[in-house]
Amino acid sequence: MFLRIDRLQVEMPLPSEPDPVAAAAVQELMGGRFGEMTTLNTYMFQSFNFRAREKLRPFYALIANIAAEELGHIELVGAAVNGLLNGAQPQGRTTDGDAVFKDLFQHGGPGLKAHVAPGPSAGVVCADSLGNPWKGDYIFNSGNLVLDLLHNFFLENGARTAKLRAYQTTSNPAARRMLGYLFTRGGVHAEAYARALEQLTGVDMKKMLPIPNLQPDQIPESRPFLEEGWHRRLYRFSTSDYDEIRQIWHGQALDGSGPLEVRDGPPDGGPMQPLEEMPEAFIPDYHAAEILEMAKKLYDKAKG
Ligand code: MN
Ligand code: MN
Repeated sequence: MFLRIDRLQVEMPLPSEPDPVAAAAVQELMGGRFGEMTTLNTYMFQSFNFRAREKLRPFYALIANIAAEELGHIELVGAAVNGLLNGAQPQGRTTDGDAVFKDLFQHGGPGLKAHVAPGPSAGVVCADSLGNPWKGDYIFNSGNLVLDLLHNFFLENGARTAKLRAYQTTSNPAARRMLGYLFTRGGVHAEAYARALEQLTGVDMKKMLPIPNLQPDQIPESRPFLEEGWHRRLYRFSTSDYDEIRQIWHGQALDGSGPLEVRDGPPDGGPMQPLEEMPEAFIPDYHAAEILEMAKKLYDKAKG
């Protein structure tokens, strides 16, 4: 089961102004092939279907625990998309005839349709940057633990490339801060799955595959997280369970920056962002004139 904490996994300042084009770029990280919905659900379903849990406890604990962290990642991407869209909508009851979204398609492509068309939601959607819905068959779960771990390693590295692409698509500082965080955490997950494979098979992952290719310089916004040691930490997203991840996550970090560390409990994180209300998407207000008219009718009726 899950416990929910009403905070984001990391401190994420609200963007200073709306940037729907950046929002569309970040949307890829929600529902794209290599987005957070795919990592979340891949590890989630692998944990549901895991056999011989007791015999293979540390591997089960690792997959299940990382799935919980990924839940926080979809929340963070959702907050980033909505933060970037915050204030982009026309304020007030009517748009006064302004074509406020007229430039969106020109600059941002069809993906922006997703933010405009749904009306009531008009926020983050469970789709990629082109508005294509996320698909359950992005999940890989063979039931063969070695193959699943190898796939997870591939998935984390594929996800890093997707983040780099999103980074290269927008220069928005708020979007880039979130990318810096997710890039760092993706490195942890790739290294964790590589270590699990080493333990399970005896293969020397550093010889077999050049991993993890962190390249922190590619995303300068990940540097503050690297300096704080986020790339050496696995958080235990449980009050009592998954302690067995220590059997996989220990020793020195592959980049030689220091010892790996398991932290009990989730990160402190940051507050949820306040979002402006969108009156046109909810129950419309009455005009003062309408209320006066209604009052007059009621008065006349009572009198009559
Ligand atoms: Mn993730
Ligand atoms: Mn991950």
